[in-house]
Amino acid sequence: MSEQQHELHPLSKAVRVRGDQTWQMEHSSPMYLTSSFTFDSAEEMRGAFAEENEENIYSRFSNPTVDEFVAKMCALENAEAGFATASGMAAVFGSIFALLKQGDHLLCCSSVFGSTFTIVTKFLPKYGIECTLVAANDKEAWEKAIKPNTKMIYLETPTNPQLELIDLEWAGQLAKKHNLILNVDNCFATPLLQQPLQYGAHLSVHSATKWIDGQGRVLGGVVVGDKALIREIYLFCRNTGPSLSPFNAWILSKSLETLDVRMQRHCENAMKVAQALENHPKVSWVKYPFLKSHPQYDIAIKQMKSGGGIVCFEVKGGVESGRKFLNSLQMLSMTANLGDTRSIASHPSSTTHSKLSEEERLSVGITPGLVRISVGLEFVDDIIYDITQALDKC
Ligand SMILES: *Cc1c(COP(=O)(O)O)cnc(C)c1O
Repeated sequence: MSEQQHELHPLSKAVRVRGDQTWQMEHSSPMYLTSSFTFDSAEEMRGAFAEENEENIYSRFSNPTVDEFVAKMCALENAEAGFATASGMAAVFGSIFALLKQGDHLLCCSSVFGSTFTIVTKFLPKYGIECTLVAANDKEAWEKAIKPNTKMIYLETPTNPQLELIDLEWAGQLAKKHNLILNVDNCFATPLLQQPLQYGAHLSVHSATKWIDGQGRVLGGVVVGDKALIREIYLFCRNTGPSLSPFNAWILSKSLETLDVRMQRHCENAMKVAQALENHPKVSWVKYPFLKSHPQYDIAIKQMKSGGGIVCFEVKGGVESGRKFLNSLQMLSMTANLGDTRSIASHPSSTTHSKLSEEERLSVGITPGLVRISVGLEFVDDIIYDITQALDKC
């Protein structure tokens, strides 16, 4: 080894960062499947509880396997600190509730993930926290909605499932100007395609269930960002209990070692699927961030390294055609997840958004024939074949 320690690139850290090797000299990181940790003396245990040392106490607070996953996420997002949770929603919930109190106001993008929408519209008001929803790209409305008690801006880009993009540089400046916390759901882009902290976001939250696991196995979530804010989120979560299981953390940490190669192929396949659908007679429009026809293409190429693995399109003929499309698929899975090796199709207006009124659906961009494809890692010609043969039957 050279005298000077060479600083590894974040992609190498995603592969190489690990907890201490045990005396067994195992190559792959072991899984610390334990609820608690022991102490040699009352004094040592007192010190741990007083946070005088960094020793683990109980896996609801911290666990070496979970720490390894968080350390890799911090390396990839260039973040000071992070906390991992049992699901993406626990990360979203924790990052909002740990930092807001009664009387505060949250400014939130109107097209956010369904459960996030429920949290901000149904639960926040119950605890005396106000929320204003603003359309993703109505920049004037964002600024106008800011009040003296506004504390946080929450947004998602690209949005699920509409694939709308929000200019992170602009959002970062808006947050800075008004001294607000900027909290970004970075799930669709992953840390490899987009790094919100670079644009002034204070927090980046993820559903690790999606591309990070990437194989449809476990639920998980993580929030990374500003050290002082993460400390608040940690204290909130260590007491309320949505901590990530070490088993799931082990899977997710291993998954990060291949995220870069997987995302490259997901993006490559998604681009080919999007291009193949652009001229299909049964499709009225296709949306993919890296297609020139995307309404926010300029934002996409500015802040994303690649377009991601989700493609949306509108099948002609509305709800009935959407259903027919799903029923005609031979290979693609019909399932609620996304970000899997297996390609998945979903029809939001008859499933995830079926409880909304037609008007509500349209106001958040869920058109009747909207189909969302999570493009997997199968041979791309097979993915395109299945989608086009199903479209032919619509
Ligand atoms: C799935 C998802 C979530 C929620 O994550 P879970 O792991 O399912 O709790 C949050 N945000 C986005 C954008 C998602 O796609």
